[in-house]
Amino acid sequence: MSRNFSEIFSEQRKKMLIEQLIPRGIEDVKVLEVMGKIPREEFVKTKEKVRSYFDGPLPIGNNQTISQPYIVAYMTEMLELTGNENILELGTGSGYQTAVLAEIAEEVSTIELIPELAGIAEELLTREFGYTNIRFKTGNGAEGWTEHAPYNRIIVTAAPVEFPELLFDQLAEGGIIIAPVGGYTQNLMKYQKMNGKIIQTGLIAVSFVPLIV
Ligand code: SAH
Repeated sequence: MSRNFSEIFSEQRKKMLIEQLIPRGIEDVKVLEVMGKIPREEFVKTKEKVRSYFDGPLPIGNNQTISQPYIVAYMTEMLELTGNENILELGTGSGYQTAVLAEIAEEVSTIELIPELAGIAEELLTREFGYTNIRFKTGNGAEGWTEHAPYNRIIVTAAPVEFPELLFDQLAEGGIIIAPVGGYTQNLMKYQKMNGKIIQTGLIAVSFVPLIV
């Protein structure tokens, strides 16, 4: 009658929805469904597994972090995904946010600067999980990825001091960008392309690792 790890983690996953995401206002059923399914414990190092569903960021090596579950949920909800989007993600990190996007949208192109993290995430998402709708690139995301542009959505999970405006050229009409912007203090920004113009809205205060450029 011993309970295995996957059962314990599935309880923790439910608790994450009930205690962290829903009370703070996450309403997108698709986001809740997907985060209630993806095993977050697979995206953290062995010694962090016990804290996989902790209400905050966790270290993933190379001085980087996997984002707090609520922030992943909030950013994904703000992307207003309907399911057929072509997404660009900057800052693959652990690949957890990438998996959330790949579950909901049509295709995801993700860029990670640090080769070691890029390698671990690609291995996990393609070999272990079998995702076939994710493209991986190692390099500087601030330049975007023109080959697969235009993107319906762009999500940035490391903070530039100023938003790299060349990314606006890779955004499709009607498209949305969600990105943290700032230095010591940062705001999560939403940029939307309407009739070729960029409309910008500030969302919430956040704290991300810097986008290295
Ligand atoms: N969404 C990820 C967040 C990882 S932290 C997760 O939840 O796991 C941010 C990541 O952005 C780090 O892995 C960091 O190496 C990466 N990064 C920083 N600057 C970058 C750049 N210019 N281009 C691509 N990735 C970058």
